[in-house]
This record gives sequence, C-alpha cells and structure tokens, in this order.
Amino acid sequence: MVLIQWFPGHMSKARRQVQENLKHVDIIMELVDARLPLSSRNPMLDKIIGTKPRLIIINKKDLGDELESQKWVHYFQSQGILAIKINAKEQQTVKKLTKAAKAVLAEQLQRASERGIQNKAIRTMIIGIPNVGKSTLMNRLAGKKIAITGNKPGVTKGQQWLKTNEELEILDTPGILWPKFEDQTVALKLALTGAIKDDLIPKDEITIFGLTFFKKNYPSELQARYKLSEAQLALSAVDLIVFLTKKMGFRDDYDRFYDLFVKDVRDGKLGTYTLDRLADLEDDENGDN
Ligand code: GDP
Repeated sequence: MVLIQWFPGHMSKARRQVQENLKHVDIIMELVDARLPLSSRNPMLDKIIGTKPRLIIINKKDLGDELESQKWVHYFQSQGILAIKINAKEQQTVKKLTKAAKAVLAEQLQRASERGIQNKAIRTMIIGIPNVGKSTLMNRLAGKKIAITGNKPGVTKGQQWLKTNEELEILDTPGILWPKFEDQTVALKLALTGAIKDDLIPKDEITIFGLTFFKKNYPSELQARYKLSEAQLALSAVDLIVFLTKKMGFRDDYDRFYDLFVKDVRDGKLGTYTLDRLADLEDDENGDN
C-alpha cells in the first residue's frame, strides 16, 4: 500500500533526486502497470529526464489484457519509445531487460566500441509511481532480497550499483514519482487497481466506475462472475449495485458489496483487464481536432 502522501515539497524533492541521478545512468527504465499504461505514468517525466534514452517497461503483464498491452507497445513505438511487457516476478525478466536496453543504446554502444570501449556495463535507474513493481523488479534483477531505501522520496544514500549480470547495472535507489492524481478518471483507475490509498476516493465512486467499465469492456466476465442474466447485465451501475448487494445477502449494506467488488477486480477475479484504452485516447485526440 502507498505510504507516500504527495505534497509539493515531496514532489520537488523526488524530482530533484531523479535529476541528480540522471547523470550517472545511460538509460532510464520507466516502469508502468499493464492495467494502466498511461495513468501509471508520471505527468512530468518527459520534462524531468529530457533527452536521456528511455525504455518503457509494461509490468504486471499477467494482470493486463494481452491484446491491449500489445496495442500499447505499438503506441509507444509510434512515439519513438521502445516498450516491453514483463512480469517482474519471472526469471527471464533479467535477460529481456538487458536485451531491450542494448537495443535502445545500439548506436551509443557501437560508437563506444569504435573508440575501443567494449563490454562496459550499461547503467540504469528504475523510475515509476508507487506500486508499479519497482522493488519487485529490482529484487529480481539483483537476484536477492535487497532493502529499497528509496521509499521516501528524496532519501538518497551514496550511489550503489546492483549488478544483474556483466552487462547491466542498476542504481539501488529507484526514482519514485507521483501519479496524475488531479485527473478524476485517472484517480479512479489508480484507486480501482489499488495503486493509490483507499481513503482518497469514496468506495461507491470506485465501484460505479468499475462496474460501468466492465459492463462496457468486459461484459461476459462480469456476467460470469456474478451470474447475471442479460437483463440484469443491462441494469445501470447503480441499479446493479442495489441488485447485487441483495443477491449476495448483504441486505442494504452497500459497503460490503463495494469491498467485495473492488477486491474481485484487484485479485483478477474478473479476469485480466486494461483500464487505459488506446481507443479512448484516439477518440480524445480526434475530438480535439
Ligand atoms: P513499488 O512500490 O513500485 O516498489 O512496487 P512493489 O514492487 O512493492 O509491487 C507492488 C505490488 O505489485 C506487490 O504486491 C508486488 O508483489 C506486485 N507485483 C509486482 N510486479 C508484479 C507482476 O509483474 N505481476 C503481478 N501479478 N504482481 C506484481
């Protein structure tokens, strides 16, 4: 669970910490959540890292909708950024990341090799909002349990490098940045996956948002999980809450249903899903024109 409350002071400290560390690394690894490939990005990252080479790592691919994750990979590629999908808990992650980092830095490595510099390890830093899996990934890369001390923004000890293999070294302090929580839809999405604290947004709002989303995008999963008829599936989110709360035997204790639904979504009981839809983004862009 997220312990950080983001105040302006924390934000500027976090930003400064990342900027100070930038000069020590060859490439930034930006970690995002497969269920939220846009909403789990920091709104200022482009500004913060400038022209530093970057790799986007779409983590928790086991929880995201595979087809949507693939669309996001293409989307980022169309923006000129290499993106790869991983599950930070899996062993092969180390190889995948090394290979992708080498691909992003191909030109630099080629030039270095022409100048006689060979086999120099690539240095990187993991950056992401809380809960995207930075600690999990760093433990996986280091091959051992390491204490991540960076969980308070602004806390930097002397740089230490975690060696994953001969080719890749990771700064032991991840860059922890804030999400785009001022945007109401983004905040609802973050809350539904558990990426931000539960008391920041009322549970009824999260549930209405979630039910509406699953009705639209994954109706058969919703139907199967709660054994709904076609007519019941067609109910509005609010009517569905009333109906399901009764059906579960919770009488009029709606809070119990909110807790159950939100837990089901987070535990993957409604299957894999992606809350950020590329189609919505394209609609927005077309609407602006
Ligand atoms: P951090 O705040 O960015 O350091 O995030 P953590 O590493 O603490 O991970 C947050 C939660 O996500 C933990 O419960 C992890 O076990 C879980 N997690 C991390 N990576 C993955 C993944 O690839 N798949 C799944 N299913 N869970 C993951």
